[in-house]
Amino acid sequence: MKILIASPEVVPFAKTGGLADVAGALPKALKELRHDVRVILPKYRMVDAVKYGLSKIYDGIKVPVGGKIELADIYEASIPGTKVPVYFIANDKYFGRDNLYQNKGVDYPDNCERFTFYSRAVLEFLKRSGWKPDIINANDWQSALIIMYLKTLYKDDPFFTHISTVYSIHNMGYQGTFPAEQIKMTSLGWEYFNSGSLEFYGKIALTKAGFVYADVINTVSPQYSHEIQTQEFGHGLEGLIQSRSKDVYGIVNGIDYELWNPAFDPYIVKKYDRRTISQKAENKSALQKKNGLPHVDVPLIGIISRLADQKGFDILAEDIENIMHLNLQFVLLGTGEPKYHELFLEMKKKYPEHIGVNLGFDAALAQLIYAGSDMFLMPSRYEPCGLGQLISYKYGTVPIVRMTGGLADTVTDGKTGFVFEEYSASALHDAIKRAIEAYKDKKKWKDLMARDMGLDYSWNASAKKYVELYEKALDKSLVKV
Ligand code: ADP
Repeated sequence: MKILIASPEVVPFAKTGGLADVAGALPKALKELRHDVRVILPKYRMVDAVKYGLSKIYDGIKVPVGGKIELADIYEASIPGTKVPVYFIANDKYFGRDNLYQNKGVDYPDNCERFTFYSRAVLEFLKRSGWKPDIINANDWQSALIIMYLKTLYKDDPFFTHISTVYSIHNMGYQGTFPAEQIKMTSLGWEYFNSGSLEFYGKIALTKAGFVYADVINTVSPQYSHEIQTQEFGHGLEGLIQSRSKDVYGIVNGIDYELWNPAFDPYIVKKYDRRTISQKAENKSALQKKNGLPHVDVPLIGIISRLADQKGFDILAEDIENIMHLNLQFVLLGTGEPKYHELFLEMKKKYPEHIGVNLGFDAALAQLIYAGSDMFLMPSRYEPCGLGQLISYKYGTVPIVRMTGGLADTVTDGKTGFVFEEYSASALHDAIKRAIEAYKDKKKWKDLMARDMGLDYSWNASAKKYVELYEKALDKSLVKV
């Protein structure tokens, strides 16, 4: 199959969250299954053109945006260590900025225009290059318009016939909503401003361009694929998704074990595997030292996350003083809402021997935290898949999670980790206490670590499920012809 994966972020070029991990790893696994898979993303300033050997392949492709013509240059590289081609859409006005979507927590005001440009440039580039995919797998609202364009503005262009589409949603909470008048950026007329198309409570929501028009829809875990059809998790789109429920699937993300593996990890202090698990302790000592924590044998809980309510920081905030009085240490790495930055800085001041606080995005430190922690906390309010718990498994770090979405699908209470159900500070507290209790039995704890390290969440299995999904999309568009 010829597959194009369109994603606004891709590891290792540009990342803000789990989507980037998926978009970097899934193509590798598809390539190993011998598919002709390619990836396309914007060329943000953070993309290191020298390190990854980007070369320009097209100059000045014309892209209509909001009644004007903007120009896209196209660069090519490959996913490191593979022959998977990666295309970058360059336009300095849109992507020559410090961040991907926002500055200091505020979205760039022209995001609708930027990602309209990206989506349309993808199609204009395909046509120019002559490479016609069988499947376009678009990811999240930033690339959803690609799907809608195929079914609207480009539907009579013979080059684009028989391309099947899959829309993958990684988080329902991000919908790409913009004021109604921004519809003019998309060159789609007002006839699409209705609830069966882009309109959403008086605005436009670009994510609907995917949900309404894709042949097949998928999310990143089976549990989340059901949850998004409920009022609690659907973010107002549950009705639409219910109406498409026959086409909705859930596939748990895999982990790229070439990148996430304590046996090879270049960022940790002492490498280890299941047989040399005791060497993990050296990473704990290094992590304690780096965070100014005393070198004592108490459980160390790591947390690496966007600091957002979705991730459970409101219940954690409610309980944090109590947690600080338990016999444990805590290391946090994250960035996000200022109220949480303040909270954790205050905790560090008050409990310097109990908590290490690292505010920022730091991929290398993240790896040391996965390796050096005994437990990994994800108290999410909702969690489409979650990667932290899967990465933790590989590092022998036991997850403590709330039973929601992909966390519910991948963590079993008492067997692979500690799970709590009610979204409350007391349920969270109780789960942490159970984990601390269990940690006291060294023999059992070591068995638990070894069991977790042996779990297989590699992409092999998930990539095969994606292939099945693509086949479903192909079948669906054949039916329509
Ligand atoms: P989401 O995509 O909702 O943010 P996931 O659990 O799916 O959550 O993926 C988060 C990914 O981002 C993981 O690989 C995690 O290690 C990483 N990550 C999150 N915050 C940071 C940070 N501040 N520094 C480094 N890596 C981070």
